[in-house]
Amino acid sequence: MASDCVFCKIAAGESDGRVLYHDERVTAFWDIHPVAPVHILIVPNKHISSVNAMSEEDEALVGHLVYVAKLIAKEQGVDQEGYRLSINTGPNAGQSVFHIHVHLLAGRSLPIHIG
Ligand code: 5GP
Ligand code: ZN
Repeated sequence: MASDCVFCKIAAGESDGRVLYHDERVTAFWDIHPVAPVHILIVPNKHISSVNAMSEEDEALVGHLVYVAKLIAKEQGVDQEGYRLSINTGPNAGQSVFHIHVHLLAGRSLPIHIG
C-alpha cells in the first residue's frame, strides 16, 4: 500500500469511501464527483499507479476489475441499457489519481467520443 494514496486507503478500509464491493483483490466505491447517475470506480487493492506500471503478473488482476464492473452493472440494473468502462492513463487522458481505476459510467446516454 502507498501511504499517500487515497485509493489504497479506501481499499484498506482506512478512508471514508462509499464502498459497494470488496474482495481479496479489488474494491469498488462511488466516485466523489459523479458525472453520471451511476459513477463507480473499481480499483485493485494492490497499488499500481497506472496501466503503464502494470506488469505481466497483473494481467488477471486487471481482468478481474472488468469482471467486477460487469457484476456491479447488473446489480445496479444498468447492464441491459448499457454503460461505459474507461481507464484514464497519463496526462493527455486526464488521469488525476495515480492508482489504476476503472470508471463505470451509466444511467444516462453517454455520447460517443474519442477524446
Ligand atoms: P481520473 O481522472 O484519475 O481517471 O479519475 C479520478 C476519479 O477519482 C475522479 O472521477 C474523481 O472524482 C475521483 N476521486 C478523486 N478523489 C477521490 C476520493 O477521495 N474518493 C472518491 N470516492 N473518489 C475520488
Ligand atoms: Zn494506491
